[in-house]
Amino acid sequence: MKIIAVTNIKGGVGKTTTAVNLAYLSAAGAAPTLLWDLDSQGGATYALRGDGQKHISVKKLLAGKRELPELILATGYAGLDLLPADFSYRNFAVHLAERRHPTERLLKMSRSLREIYARLFLDCPSGISLLSENVLRAADLVIVPLVPTPLAVRMLIELRDFVIGEGWTDLKLLPFFSMVDRRRALHQELIASARAQFPAMLATEVPYWSEIERMSVRRAPLPACAPKSEATRIYRELWAEICERMDGVSPVTTEPAPQRFSMPVTEQRSTAR
Ligand code: ADP
Ligand code: MG
Repeated sequence: MKIIAVTNIKGGVGKTTTAVNLAYLSAAGAAPTLLWDLDSQGGATYALRGDGQKHISVKKLLAGKRELPELILATGYAGLDLLPADFSYRNFAVHLAERRHPTERLLKMSRSLREIYARLFLDCPSGISLLSENVLRAADLVIVPLVPTPLAVRMLIELRDFVIGEGWTDLKLLPFFSMVDRRRALHQELIASARAQFPAMLATEVPYWSEIERMSVRRAPLPACAPKSEATRIYRELWAEICERMDGVSPVTTEPAPQRFSMPVTEQRSTAR
């Protein structure tokens, strides 16, 4: 199972939008996929209509009162399941700090999912905390949506230096530009200078489009509700690029998954970490 985190210290940069669309495309490519909404605001849970269900508090979860597979919800999209957020997740870091080996809890908890899913997406809250450290420790791949501002690039360099400092050499950091307005000269300048400083930056840029923003009202992944749209094409391109960096191969491209539920195919873990 590959663990793919979508994270950034900054809020409102497109993390949840990215996580929901990419998790959907992952599942549509026939890889059983789980999206874990780690943000107490529950943006991904809302987008996938998993709200209004009974959730479990982070305190009970970390105390091992329930295993993660017991908490999984079907999204109605083939191959895509959801671990919904709970409002108590706002205190995730506090409860992590009370446990033994506090930076490894998420990795340990995710082990119960390995036999069920090929990919686990983590939609992370903004900020940097013990939860973020758990995420970085557990993840194989970290996708970082960046809005084109000088501070965003500085933050990325700090994140990269932190990962290098921890010696996590097998962790791949994949930043991309999000909410780009190519008509703005400042955006163009910042992107060009960031690309020069950070050659691992993904080539795909997600534009600032109201069509993408509307996803939050439609409460469905863009490839599911607007499969032929330009916005869906951009997310497909982003996912293809990520798959190439992840596995060195292009993703299996299939038509959008039919909107019905099917149980994830039990599958052996493809990689070990
Ligand atoms: P985060 O998870 O980083 O806080 P979200 O994905 O929730 O960010 O996005 C924040 C807001 O911006 C939401 O209202 C979302 O619909 C909107 N949004 C996200 N990506 C785009 C985009 N590329 N263009 C326009 N609006 C966007
Ligand atoms: Mg979010």
